[in-house]
Amino acid sequence: MRKTSIFGATGSVGQSTIDLIRRAPEAYDVVALTGAGNIAQLARDAIELRADVAVTAREDQLPALRAALVGHPVEAAAGDAALKEAAQRPADWVMSAIVGAAGLVPGLEALKQGATLALANKESLVCAGQLLLKTARDHNARLLPVDSEHSAVFQALVGEDMAAVERVIITASGGAFRDWPLERLKSATVDEASTHPNWAMGQRITIDSASMFNKALEVIETREYFGVDPAQIEVLVHPESIVHAMVGFRDGAVMAHLGAPDMRHAIGYALHWPERQDLPVERLDFAKLAQLSFRSPDLQRYPALQLAYDVMDRGGLSGAVFNAAKERALDHFIAGRIGFLDMADRVARVMQRFDRDDMGLDDLMTLDAVRRMDHLARVDIDSLL
Ligand code: NAD
Ligand code: MG
Repeated sequence: MRKTSIFGATGSVGQSTIDLIRRAPEAYDVVALTGAGNIAQLARDAIELRADVAVTAREDQLPALRAALVGHPVEAAAGDAALKEAAQRPADWVMSAIVGAAGLVPGLEALKQGATLALANKESLVCAGQLLLKTARDHNARLLPVDSEHSAVFQALVGEDMAAVERVIITASGGAFRDWPLERLKSATVDEASTHPNWAMGQRITIDSASMFNKALEVIETREYFGVDPAQIEVLVHPESIVHAMVGFRDGAVMAHLGAPDMRHAIGYALHWPERQDLPVERLDFAKLAQLSFRSPDLQRYPALQLAYDVMDRGGLSGAVFNAAKERALDHFIAGRIGFLDMADRVARVMQRFDRDDMGLDDLMTLDAVRRMDHLARVDIDSLL
C-alpha cells in the first residue's frame, strides 16, 4: 500500500484525486487529507478513505471538524501549524492541490520527507521554484507536474534529450472572454469570469483563465520544470482544449499531447508514473472532432501574459512578487473593489515599484526571503487601490 496524502482535498483537483484513489482503496494507505472549508466533505472523505488525520487550515472550524469525526478513528486538527505537521508525516505520494502560495510550506515539508510531490499548486513553483527544486534534490524527492500542459510536456519528453528541444508550446483555451470585444472586458463581472468554456475548476483558477494570469503562471512554471529559456516558450490559443502542449525538436519534429479536458488524466499520470494505468477519462473520437484550431494570443486582450516574460527576465524573487500581487488583485476583483482589467494593471505597477536588485537573488532563495517578498507585494498592491 502506498502512503498517500492530499493537500487541498476538498477542492476541484483534490476531489478528482480522491475519485481516482477511491476506485482502488486497497492500494492506498491515506495519511492526511486537508481543506480550508467544507468540513462535511472533508470529514466524509477522511472517514471513507480511513485517513489518519483530517486538517482544516481554519482554526475556527476545529470544533465542527471534531464533531463531524466523532466515533471514527480519524484525528482532527486545524491551523497552519497542523497543516505543516500533517505534511511532515511520512508519505510516498502527496498531492499538492491547495490554491495559492499557502501551498508552499506543506509542499516543502512533504519533499523534506522524501515524498513524491504531485504538484498542482503552480503558485508555489512560481513564487519559489528554485527552493522547491533544491529541496527535492537535497532530499532525494521527486516533483511531478500535474498541470495539464506540464504533464503533457513531461510526457512528450519521455526518452528525449533536453538538448534537442527547440521550443515548448503550451495551449490556452482563451477563457471565458476569448470572443468578447475588448471594450466589454472593462465591465466584466465576477460571475461572468467564473465560468470556463471547457474545464470545471476552482473559482480562482477559472478567473485566472479568463485574464490569462493562469497562463502567465504556467509559462513561468514551464521554465522552472524544464529549464528552457523564456524565448523557447510559446503560448497558443486553442479553443477546443484538446492539444494540451507540444514540444518542438531541433529536427523540426513536433510531439503533441492530446486528451479530453479532464484533470484526472494529469493526476492519474502522476499517480501511476512511470507506468500508465487505466484511467476513467473520455476517449477522443477523432472522426467527431470537427476541427482543432490555433491562434496567437492577443496581448492587448491578455496583458497578464506579457508580465510572465518580465518575471522570467528579472528572475530571483520576482515570481514571489508577481504571484502575491496577482493573488491580492484577484481578491480585490472578487470583492468588487477593482475591475477585471485593473488586475493586470495593478500587478504591473507593483512589479515596477520593486527594484530589480531586490528581486534578483536566485542563490539566496530562502523561505523567509520568499515570504517577505510575498508580504511586501500584498501590502504594496493594497496601497494602490
Ligand atoms: P479549489 O479552489 O477548488 O481548491 C483549493 C483547495 O485548497 C481546497 O481544498 C481549499 O479548501 C484549499 N485551500 C484554500 N485556501 C487555503 C489556505 N489558505 N490554506 C490551506 N488550504 C487552502 O482549487 P483547484 O481548482 O482545485 O486548484 C488547486 C490548485 O491546482 C491551484 O494551484 C490551481 O492553480 C491548480 N490547478 C487546478 C486545475 C483545475 O482543473 N482545477 C488545473 C491545473 C492546476
Ligand atoms: Mg493548466
